[in-house]
Amino acid sequence: MNGLMMDVPLTIPSILKRAAQVYPEKEIVSRWSDGSITRTNYGTLYKRVVRLMNVLRDLGVQPGDRVATSAWNSSHHLELYFAIPSLGAVLHTVNIRLFPDQIRFIVNHAEDRFVFLDRSLAGLYAELQPSLTTVERYILMDDRGTPPTTMPSPASDYETLLASASDEEYFPPLEENMAAGLCYTSGTTGEPKGTLYSHRATYLHAMGACMVDSLGISEKETVMSVVPMFHANAWGLPYACAMTGAKQVFPGPHLLGGAIASLMEAEQVTLSAGVPTVWNILYQHLKQHSQKLTSLRVIISGGSAIPRKLIADYEHDLGVEVVCVWGMTELSPIGTVARLRGAMRNLPAEKQLAIRATQGISVPCVEIAILNEEGESLPWDGESTGELASKGPWVASGYYNTGKPNTALTKDGWFLTGDVAAITPYGYVEITDRKKDMIKSRGEWISSIDMENLAVEHPNVREAAVVGRHDPVRDEVPVVAVVLNEPRPQEEIAREMRDLLATQFANWQLPKLSDIRIVEALPKTSVGKLDKKVLRVQILNSET
Ligand code: ADP
Repeated sequence: MNGLMMDVPLTIPSILKRAAQVYPEKEIVSRWSDGSITRTNYGTLYKRVVRLMNVLRDLGVQPGDRVATSAWNSSHHLELYFAIPSLGAVLHTVNIRLFPDQIRFIVNHAEDRFVFLDRSLAGLYAELQPSLTTVERYILMDDRGTPPTTMPSPASDYETLLASASDEEYFPPLEENMAAGLCYTSGTTGEPKGTLYSHRATYLHAMGACMVDSLGISEKETVMSVVPMFHANAWGLPYACAMTGAKQVFPGPHLLGGAIASLMEAEQVTLSAGVPTVWNILYQHLKQHSQKLTSLRVIISGGSAIPRKLIADYEHDLGVEVVCVWGMTELSPIGTVARLRGAMRNLPAEKQLAIRATQGISVPCVEIAILNEEGESLPWDGESTGELASKGPWVASGYYNTGKPNTALTKDGWFLTGDVAAITPYGYVEITDRKKDMIKSRGEWISSIDMENLAVEHPNVREAAVVGRHDPVRDEVPVVAVVLNEPRPQEEIAREMRDLLATQFANWQLPKLSDIRIVEALPKTSVGKLDKKVLRVQILNSET
């Protein structure tokens, strides 16, 4: 039909170009490992991205190539967020909190050609390098941290490459359905799986994040993403901020309590986003020091459920609104946001709080449903529970390079989230359980099945089961229940078990010694399967 709207592709470089044109002076602030601060702005960012694109070209990066980043939140990382996709290549953000073996798997699976990394993280790559089969060069970014004693090679210095690159501007034409980003997420068992973000999905998701009833990112905000840039594109905030011209503040590696509070004050942050653990620790810090934050207005909390009390404490003691969001790496990640509807403001305070502590309602573009075992959609009555499912332009249709397209979807095209939920008649999602056998600690996953498989390798352990228990600081921590084949003292078993688990799990994933528990038997279902629901209750009861 004639006279239709222009068919303009939705691409990441268009976000940057407008930011540089309309908001060149708006600041981008980074705090580095040593506590020092640097400032740049969207105008300068644009110029450096143009140069960085030329660096990438000189290195031989082709459209579709995967280029990895392994870095904390900083303006360097933001430059890579724009330069790599603007060239048609794929920004692969590697989660630096993973166990080295998983990083090895991820980089090899993605077939990354180059790794851009914070210099202080280079030691890890020096160790991994012999087994990273596709990486041609490591580009080290000075994060003002302690340089490691060993470095991967061949290596180049980021600033040296930028200084010698051409500043000729060339943005190749891109199609909106080209891949732009890659982020791996932990599976219940086996190896991590890659979610491949397109330009279109990233663009629409950024717009979705900006909507006032969603995260409400706007030009007047000063935004600090505490959520790492290796976590689903820091929930899309770097792109949403550039889209609106919001000032961005990057906190670097120091993410707890006083470090966050002082940066928020110094830069007059108004909106910040992160997992509940971060907000809990910040609140304790502020309370202990009788400190208030003079600019902070809103906290976006996601990745795990946040206790109602913490929402209330922030509001009453600090005058800060807490907005809960639910999402997943596979949803780019924002799916639902818990804000009150206008009419709900007349409800009693307790009711309002209960609604705000849910996972919230779907943001525009995201369709949700709860499905029973047969894949049928259940009513939104607040009582029926089923597996939460989703569809939409920023929802994954499958995983990267599994050889099986669309295996992640049901026959009706739903992406199954692994979360079990009810949905109220007003559309608020209430997660009641998790189908995936995973534990989420400080916003990062621990596979209980992988931990069980390793636990039974202990010579005295006949059976083992791992479940999560709530922890006020880490949200959830693993509890390892073991049945022994001969009596042994608890402390000895606990110490040996921790040592064994430490061979395949990162430090932050390990159970406390007191959470390695000897039991007589593990609860089983009628068909003899391990009953984790019952075990969770037993563990809970043994604590009270
Ligand atoms: P993210 O990087 O956002 O943490 P992941 O893909 O690692 O995303 O984890 C997604 C999972 O985290 C969800 O399927 C759900 O189990 C849990 N989750 C995320 N947000 C919430 C929330 N607000 N409340 C409860 N659970 C949540």
